[in-house]
Amino acid sequence: MGENDRTGRCVVAVDGPSGSGKSTVSRRLAASLGARYLDTGAMYRAVTWAVLRSGVDLTDAESVAKVAGEVDLRIGTDPQGYGVVADGVDVEKEIRGPEVTGAVSVVAAVSAVRDLLVGRQRQMIENAGRIVVEGRDIGSVVAPDADLKVYLTASAAARAQRRSAEDASDVAATAVDLARRDKLDSTRQVNPLQQAADAVVLDTTELGIDEVVARLRDLLTERGVA
Ligand code: C5P
Repeated sequence: MGENDRTGRCVVAVDGPSGSGKSTVSRRLAASLGARYLDTGAMYRAVTWAVLRSGVDLTDAESVAKVAGEVDLRIGTDPQGYGVVADGVDVEKEIRGPEVTGAVSVVAAVSAVRDLLVGRQRQMIENAGRIVVEGRDIGSVVAPDADLKVYLTASAAARAQRRSAEDASDVAATAVDLARRDKLDSTRQVNPLQQAADAVVLDTTELGIDEVVARLRDLLTERGVA
């Protein structure tokens, strides 16, 4: 295979705000394509877990970046279940908790943290070849040459409803937290949440997961990549 041979390669970038259905759609799509799956949000969450554990001041970008550079972060790419291990500790559950969720957007705004994780994400995409990658900046920054870029949206009410159903939290409190994170993620200086110019936009408010996955499969078939 030559260096530029893209045979069998299939990279799908799925971006959008929290609760837009990214994770469920991305995992199902990856499984149906026989592809790998990368949850980049879990990487930012695991780094945030390490930052909180270290006790450094969250607003001290230099110290936060230092912790990010030192943590031994391992994440799997199996769509049926991937592990997240930081410094030998299984953090899969803890990174979904309120402490990490409350701090992750601040850590993710540190440019050195992003440089580090974007580099690792690109490497993992390169190694996998066939992969569905979800996040906030995948189509715009991490994989601008993706075969398909998708931007998922849903009404704020639907997103809060889904998230609170997932973790049994209060809907009103979840809505406030999502709005707070969306604002931080969309307005940060480095790699904000944004719709790539060539992304296909799907509003999932009224669409079932199966319907969204089927549409994406059709788009890939139309493009001759899967
Ligand atoms: O997707 P998830 O809600 O797990 O992401 C957690 C946080 O990680 C987001 O709110 C955002 O601050 C950050 N993130 C990011 N870039 C990505 C993925 C996630 O900044 N590609």
